[in-house]
Amino acid sequence: MIWRVSGHCQGRILIPEADVSLTEHHYLGLQSSAQYYCVLTDDSQAQSLWHWANSHHMSITPLGSGSNVVLQARLPGLVVHVKNRGVTLLSETATSVELRVAAGENWHELVMTCVTKGYFGLENLALIPGTVGAAPVQNIGAYGVEVCRHITAVNVLDLASGAPLRLDNGACDFRYRDSIFKSRERGRYLILSVDFVLSKIDQPQVEYPPLVEALTGRSATGRDVLNAVVALRREKLPDPEQQPNVGSFFKNPQVSPDVAASLIQAWPYMPQFPGADTWVKLSAAWLLEHCGWRGRSIGGVMMSAQHALVLVNQSAIDANALLSAVETIVASVEATFGVRLVMEPDVLGTSEATMGSQPSERGTIMATDGNGTVG
Ligand SMILES: Cc1cc2nc3c(=O)[nH]c(=O)nc-3n(C[C@H](O)[C@H](O)[C@H](O)COP(=O)(O)OP(=O)(O)OC[C@H]3O[C@@H](n4cnc5c(N)ncnc54)[C@H](O)[C@@H]3O)c2cc1C
Repeated sequence: MIWRVSGHCQGRILIPEADVSLTEHHYLGLQSSAQYYCVLTDDSQAQSLWHWANSHHMSITPLGSGSNVVLQARLPGLVVHVKNRGVTLLSETATSVELRVAAGENWHELVMTCVTKGYFGLENLALIPGTVGAAPVQNIGAYGVEVCRHITAVNVLDLASGAPLRLDNGACDFRYRDSIFKSRERGRYLILSVDFVLSKIDQPQVEYPPLVEALTGRSATGRDVLNAVVALRREKLPDPEQQPNVGSFFKNPQVSPDVAASLIQAWPYMPQFPGADTWVKLSAAWLLEHCGWRGRSIGGVMMSAQHALVLVNQSAIDANALLSAVETIVASVEATFGVRLVMEPDVLGTSEATMGSQPSERGTIMATDGNGTVG
């Protein structure tokens, strides 16, 4: 992780490659390929990429580490693998810092580095796989903390206009596992960096029951919370290296109080969590377990025996196979409880092998000075 004082280096010339396999670039290992693919290593390359894609009438699909996607057979247009690096200290007071972190930085490395430097707030989100740029997309959350609490702004390239923009926290409309990047403005922005405000005062968040239990009797520090979260996650979640998975495969459903009341009548032990708004959150893991899915396989996938919410790809070759097994699981939960589970990972691409316009085999994209001028 490179800490910068200010400024940024100029990127290299980008050469998109045609027909690149993405099978190694995402956690589920499904057969998939990009019509065009390139690796972005510096912000200054983003606008020239946009000009290239625009002139070839192609869409741009950003990809981080692939830990929260289901990739279909073909991703049309240009897949931009975001790997820019660097952390810049934007400002500092006696009690806080504001950092700008490049989208391609590794999330867990950032959490570790911040705690080591005495910048607190992200500890509960330790060991979540993925890149910093993807963190705002679904407003990553774990152990009682959502990342939006610490985001001041998200710096993007607007793929509709080619303009760089700074979206402040309010403009991102963060919600439970959701933001404008995942729903309302899905596909519109390429996130280049994220600005975080972190505290120099070590006041960990330990309200979440499993954390309270793990830290009983100790006056915990941020480092203790980080270590406890890492230990809990290692114990509870299947390792994606051994059992390909994308973490929680379904969101916890949110239902109206009326629906929640009728469910509790029929299922008195059903866990329910009234939210701050009018919705009541249900446990997707509990629903799946009650339908017998924990540890059960179908069509090459299995709902993990370790955690009922984690779908493990055992042998599904492509997204078609995986999604048809998923539909069977969703239908069985719906038939039992009348609640339709919604997937958490993003399904990207198309199952058709049909392609859009075909530029020459390899296109060359020059680095720009950030104002759209080709360098
Ligand atoms: C074992 C395991 C545990 C997990 N635990 C949690 C958890 O506790 N909490 C949680 O919230 N998530 C969890 N996840 C999900 C996942 O780690 C996060 O969603 C993570 O932020 C995804 O990062 P990524 O770089 O892999 O994104 P990808 O999977 O590459 O992309 C995810 C989405 O973000 C978009 N995207 C990625 N980068 C950019 C960018 N720079 N600009 C614009 N769009 C972009 C992609 O187009 C895609 O739509 C877990 C996953 C695994 C495998």
